[in-house]
Amino acid sequence: MLKKLLFFFSLILFNAVTLAQTQPWQGKFEPIDNMINPPNSYRAASGAPGKAYWQQRADYKIKATLDEENNTITGEETITYHNNSPDDLSYIWIQLEQNVNKKGSEDFGSFFNSIKDSINTRQMQLLTRAIDFPAGYTIKYIKDANGNPMKSFVNNTMMKVVLKEPLKSGVSISFSMAWSYPITDRSMFFLSREGYEYFPGDDNTVYLIAHWFPRMAVYNDTEGWQNQQFQRLGEFALEFGDYYVELTVPEDHIIASTGSLQNGDAVLSKTQQERLKEAAGSFDKPVMIVTKDEAENNEKAKSNKQKTWIFSASNVRDFAFASSRKFLWDAQAVKLPTNTVMAMSFYPKEGLPVWKEESTKAIKNALEVYSEATFDYPYPVAISVNTSNIGMEFPMISFNGGRPKNGKISDRARAGMIGTIIHEVGHNWFPMIVSSDERKWMWMDEGLNTFIHQRTVAERYPEFSSATPKTIVPFMSGDKNIMRPIMTTSDNEILTQFGNNFYMKPTVGLQMLRNSIVGRELFDQAFKEYANRWKYKHPNPADLFRTLEDATAVDLDWFFRGWFFTTDNVDMELTDVKWFRVNEEELNSKDQKKTVKLKIEGENFSEQAKDFSSGPEAITMTSTPDASYGGFLSRMDEPELRKQLSDKNIYVVTIKNIGGLVMPVTIEWLYTDGSREIDTLPAEVWRGNEYEIKRTFVKEKEVSKVNLDPNFEFADTDMRNNSFPKVEAPSEFDAFKSKQE
Ligand SMILES: [Zn+2]
Repeated sequence: MLKKLLFFFSLILFNAVTLAQTQPWQGKFEPIDNMINPPNSYRAASGAPGKAYWQQRADYKIKATLDEENNTITGEETITYHNNSPDDLSYIWIQLEQNVNKKGSEDFGSFFNSIKDSINTRQMQLLTRAIDFPAGYTIKYIKDANGNPMKSFVNNTMMKVVLKEPLKSGVSISFSMAWSYPITDRSMFFLSREGYEYFPGDDNTVYLIAHWFPRMAVYNDTEGWQNQQFQRLGEFALEFGDYYVELTVPEDHIIASTGSLQNGDAVLSKTQQERLKEAAGSFDKPVMIVTKDEAENNEKAKSNKQKTWIFSASNVRDFAFASSRKFLWDAQAVKLPTNTVMAMSFYPKEGLPVWKEESTKAIKNALEVYSEATFDYPYPVAISVNTSNIGMEFPMISFNGGRPKNGKISDRARAGMIGTIIHEVGHNWFPMIVSSDERKWMWMDEGLNTFIHQRTVAERYPEFSSATPKTIVPFMSGDKNIMRPIMTTSDNEILTQFGNNFYMKPTVGLQMLRNSIVGRELFDQAFKEYANRWKYKHPNPADLFRTLEDATAVDLDWFFRGWFFTTDNVDMELTDVKWFRVNEEELNSKDQKKTVKLKIEGENFSEQAKDFSSGPEAITMTSTPDASYGGFLSRMDEPELRKQLSDKNIYVVTIKNIGGLVMPVTIEWLYTDGSREIDTLPAEVWRGNEYEIKRTFVKEKEVSKVNLDPNFEFADTDMRNNSFPKVEAPSEFDAFKSKQE
């Protein structure tokens, strides 16, 4: 190892020679082309849909009746399926998600828990289903457009319908089916996205009805038929289409639903209709459509008559609704540049007062920030329905947990509730419109959605804490034996990990790209480009990766490779900082042939200095031999160059990559005069050596301290090795304690 520096221009070469990597090269900057789907005529290399891009379409006409006494739903539907693919299809697949609720289909229960010495009774029910209850579809018939029965096979949550003749490319088919299923009690499941919630206080029920009608599975250019069963964690892959839905419910119920209400004059009172009109012009605050008193009267009425509500929705990939006589209802208008939306909330009185105060306001905030970040919300309504727990999204409507206890809610729970509403409303963009395959890649919708959700919180609720790269540090410094890359399919992730791995890690990755790697303006353009390219379409991970590079002219393969395909983390160690100084007086020698030995203050440089107290180290600068100039007859002004360096402080920084991820390096210099300065090196500095780099800096001022990643931009998992002079090592007890945290 050479200790003394020659001068500047040969420095780069020296680094390359002296720092030859001794550990195996891992190709961290190699293209990821062999790890993602190759481009073709359907999906372009730019990340945009290709010239021959196609997708299927499914239109639905549904009539359904909710039987409150027996908690069942019965329906008939006609599906018109358009085969836009270049392929002829001899069979089609239909999703029967309610079948996951049948006893025996819940392997998921054992996934999240096992029996310990002590377990609460509800957990034991979730695990063993000791109290059994009916669930799953009864399919009464399935018949073609001429009324002839069609041959079908049910395979758990999927049903194959065999066609008499193949459905040719470019041709549509209509068929009908009738079905029913028992609505299940949400408290009986761990991840209950739908079902009913019973309120013993007034003997009433709130119904959350979702993945309720048999729906077409996706057929596409990368998978053929979507063929992963519903196992609760991996959600849905669905086709776009138009819906016309007639819902018959008890007469005193209020329905919140995907779509626009078609027969308001038949199902709403005159007063309610007038209030809705008023709400359509109220841009600053919600108007109550059903008040608390009215909802309480409904609770007591318990009509046994029925009413049919009709909704229609265009270009949606799903349809859900909620129904109850308990609902209060408020609504206000939200003006976006190209659309005016009705933001509406439905909640039982148990949600008061916080739901009245916050829900519709949170919808408005989400609509505004997401529209700005991607494209204007295109639908007529955006609805938030209060539930006991969790949040779940559907087109135009979401079911959101968060309820006060005895009218009171902690600040933390309030923030959690508002965050849930923003998040679930945000899912209208990802995956309801930018319609990725949730069954396969949970991170594609959860990660992108959480990214804009956190931005909404940061911009509209600055008093709440929102995610930053620091948020992911505890997860990324966790046990690698149970950690999986983000690029893991939804159902192959562990329940304790998916929140961090599929929501927060992609969020932080996108934040790092936006704030520290690509830059805000360029990144925001690229993110918007992705959203607009894949609006109402089915993007794959490759389409996102390619677009983010194509629209920024930044090669991000190293970032995608590390952050999405490995479980490596960022941990950089500031191993050493060497200080040198050049003395002008001695440098003024005109004699090009004579080697100049410089006299530098300080001593004892053979040991590695632990701080800057022993002063700068000596440099020997030699005059450049003619041979180094090769064929050039001209000579640079070497004395001038030396003069430029004289009295300057030259620092050589050694940084080790401990965590494995290559990242940009930000170096903070604290000077002896109290001022500070930051230098940023791009991630590409790790190209020559993925394990250790040395870089040289010339500074006017003397440095007292050097820190890496001073603003916590890169989720460095161990900040204790980021400084020179080193920060005092924590005691074993402190280290243990911080690990526990
Ligand atoms: Zn989500």
